[in-house]
Amino acid sequence: MNAKLSAVKGMNDLLPPQSASWEWFEAQVRALMQGYGYRNIRTPIVEPTALFVRSIGEVTDIVEKEMYSFTDALNGEQLTLRPESTAAVVRAAVEHNLLYDGGKRLWYSGPMFRHERPQRGRYRQFHQVGAEALGFAGPDVDAELILMARRLWHMLGLADVRLELNCLGQPDERLRHRHKLVAYFEAHQDQLDEDSRRRLHSNPLRILDTKNPQMQALVNAAPRLIDELGEESLQHFEGVQALLRAAGQGFTINPRLVRGLDYYNLTVFEWVTDRLGAQGTVCAGGRYDGLIEQIGGKPAPACGWALGVERVLDLLEQGGMPVPAPQPDAYIVLAHAPALALAMQTAEDLRTAGLNVVLHAGAGSMKSQMKKADASGARYALIFGEDEYAAGEITCKALRQGHGLEAQQQRIALQPLAGLIACLAHTDAAA
Ligand code: ATP
Ligand code: MG
Repeated sequence: MNAKLSAVKGMNDLLPPQSASWEWFEAQVRALMQGYGYRNIRTPIVEPTALFVRSIGEVTDIVEKEMYSFTDALNGEQLTLRPESTAAVVRAAVEHNLLYDGGKRLWYSGPMFRHERPQRGRYRQFHQVGAEALGFAGPDVDAELILMARRLWHMLGLADVRLELNCLGQPDERLRHRHKLVAYFEAHQDQLDEDSRRRLHSNPLRILDTKNPQMQALVNAAPRLIDELGEESLQHFEGVQALLRAAGQGFTINPRLVRGLDYYNLTVFEWVTDRLGAQGTVCAGGRYDGLIEQIGGKPAPACGWALGVERVLDLLEQGGMPVPAPQPDAYIVLAHAPALALAMQTAEDLRTAGLNVVLHAGAGSMKSQMKKADASGARYALIFGEDEYAAGEITCKALRQGHGLEAQQQRIALQPLAGLIACLAHTDAAA
């Protein structure tokens, strides 16, 4: 026997029955996005490496050490498996001039790739759903995006996801803050870890995002960006908060919230939970007014978020909405081989009528076929036996009982098919 191959570390197969939760989740997301007028966009999984270096920022975890980058063996291009999608959405919007007639609301869903240490909630291939509102400047869009996420938690039955907010201001305010921050950290050089010492002059704001517990006290006492904000930034921030309050959405302001990507300004936010251990951020986003211009477009404001699908589904599994299991209407049991063509045609006709039908494949005793019928979750077994075949009938047996209904089994004429369809439409037995 040949040696077995396995999936790449940190990259997971998604199998039934778990895949049903993903399908259900994706259907909720589609409905959510439609409800807010966001339209679907699909960009390639591979992009030029320069796109991410330019947008996410050179001195970030993602660009420094997490990207799957390679040289195209055929033409020497520098390429990267996308670690996130905002940059790609902006690239596509600029390339196709999507904003020529005003703002656009877009959403995406798909796999992302980051070379991280695999652990619960942290994978090397993971999935994000994201919403991006391009070309809108006001705090109304920030609030809309946040309320969209809230609605999704509600649709999924997730009660304990809370909102943290911060305002990163504008580049000049960040610069003022940066000077103070560098001076502060320089005065405490001895308490910085290696990563932070390296970032002190390249990207000191990122030190605030450190996950090193030994640096928490130092970082907590650092000068706060929020204290450097000017009138306009404060007004925008107040605007978002006022809209959230009016919508009954609570939040905490976290001055340490800086996000792991460089392109943000003004509003940043995270939806967090205590139920996922260290990987508690399920959704993160904010405003990135400079990015469109940075990627070569005409300057235009933008705001968006991305959620981690694995983390959301982990939460869902621990107690959200019960995800409906797939349930065929009927499983066809073939107890008389010559009836195969008829059974197949009947299955086709039932599907045309909108029913979900599984046709038993391969041989098998009546008993083993009935077992399979039961395991399929089907509401009815349709038995094509020898007697039935001779009489132009089938036996229809209810597999699921509830509401005090007796297990029922009846012979039904195949023609006209309406009789059988009516029997299968009898959903009471489903509960
Ligand atoms: P973290 O601080 O957890 O590394 P991040 O700031 O790198 O997160 P973003 O780039 O903002 O995360 O991505 C948005 C969301 O995508 C995160 O909040 C998280 O839910 C999810 N996510 C990010 N990286 C991973 C990963 N490696 N595996 C699974 N989900 C991830
Ligand atoms: Mg990260």
